[in-house]
Amino acid sequence: MSDPIPVCDLKAHVSGIRAELDAAIARVLESGWFILGEELRQFEAEFAGFVGQRHCLGVASGTDAIHLAIRALGLGPGDWVLTAPNSAVPTACGISEAGATPCFADVDLEDGLLDPGSVSRQLDRLGSKVKAIMAVHLYGRAARLAELSKIAQERGIPFVEDVAQAHGANRLELRAGTIGALSCFSFYPTKNLGAFGDAGAITTDSPELARRIVHLRNYGQEDRYHHVTLGFNSRLDEIQAAILRVELAHLPAWTARRRAIAARYRAGFAGLPLALAPERPEAPSVEHLFVVRVDDRDRFRAALEASGVATQIHYPLPIHLQPAYAGLNLGPGSFPIAERRAREVVSLPMYPEMTEDQIDRVIDAVRSALRGAHPPTETPS
Ligand SMILES: *Cc1c(COP(=O)(O)O)cnc(C)c1O
Repeated sequence: MSDPIPVCDLKAHVSGIRAELDAAIARVLESGWFILGEELRQFEAEFAGFVGQRHCLGVASGTDAIHLAIRALGLGPGDWVLTAPNSAVPTACGISEAGATPCFADVDLEDGLLDPGSVSRQLDRLGSKVKAIMAVHLYGRAARLAELSKIAQERGIPFVEDVAQAHGANRLELRAGTIGALSCFSFYPTKNLGAFGDAGAITTDSPELARRIVHLRNYGQEDRYHHVTLGFNSRLDEIQAAILRVELAHLPAWTARRRAIAARYRAGFAGLPLALAPERPEAPSVEHLFVVRVDDRDRFRAALEASGVATQIHYPLPIHLQPAYAGLNLGPGSFPIAERRAREVVSLPMYPEMTEDQIDRVIDAVRSALRGAHPPTETPS
């Protein structure tokens, strides 16, 4: 039997661009400069250009990007930040690390993105304690940027974006990472743009907010040994910056390949009893994760595993039900759609280096796993 197909294959990823990576890493080693240098400056300029935002500041991780963004807005203890309960837990960790408290609204059943109606109702309920809205562009698709940023504007609170899963995504003419007062990116190795270690960035239009991030990421330092604020150590190092510059040049081609794989999946899964996020021409996904929903998930996953196809769950337990957030006192039933999705979602293999044969094998395995299964019901249970 052929090798199992993983959900993401970083070895294949590295070997595709190995020579360029070796040259970039060698360039840094020869420079003798490893923190806050020319590679980072160049990457920040190139990534700002890619996103279409004025400023980009490299930081140590996506979680740090969220943490420092919340601090740069002057938020902390007593301030609540509304976000998506079905995001990766670090979205909430970054908020908590700043001393603020995450709160949530429910999401759309079909695509898992924050539901603006639920956001408005939660803001009515929670009142003026909520000091910011953080949208999450989950799985590669831009959240409802216009509606959510308008709600924030009407309430007079900042809008922030978690773009960790959606480098280069758009909704209509709006680009993810350009609408928030601050937008937070992760370059964790498995993201669409991934370093070979931890790395992240913040984009912003505001020179003042950019300046605060520059201080916060480097011990609060403005000029050498002159510290204007209580800061942190959260920098994107030169080796990771050099690696990211190599990868950024390939990102458009990789995104196109992800989309081609997703199109093959969609055609191959036609008529099967599984729910796919609807194709939305106004917000084409950059296909970070290919997530489907099924009724009998354990059986489905076991059948795929037996056919040599790995799967993962993003994410099995919503943030508000995590033991770490028991203090929020948000029990089961608080966000029924997010909770239902957590029981149904399955991520299939999705990475640009997938071969045609591997794509075919995934499609065949899914088709045979679902023979005789019932479709998931479309009304919330
Ligand atoms: C990966 C991820 C993060 C955290 O990024 P790190 O670089 O791992 O700290 C935050 N939010 C979302 C939605 C993510 O997917």
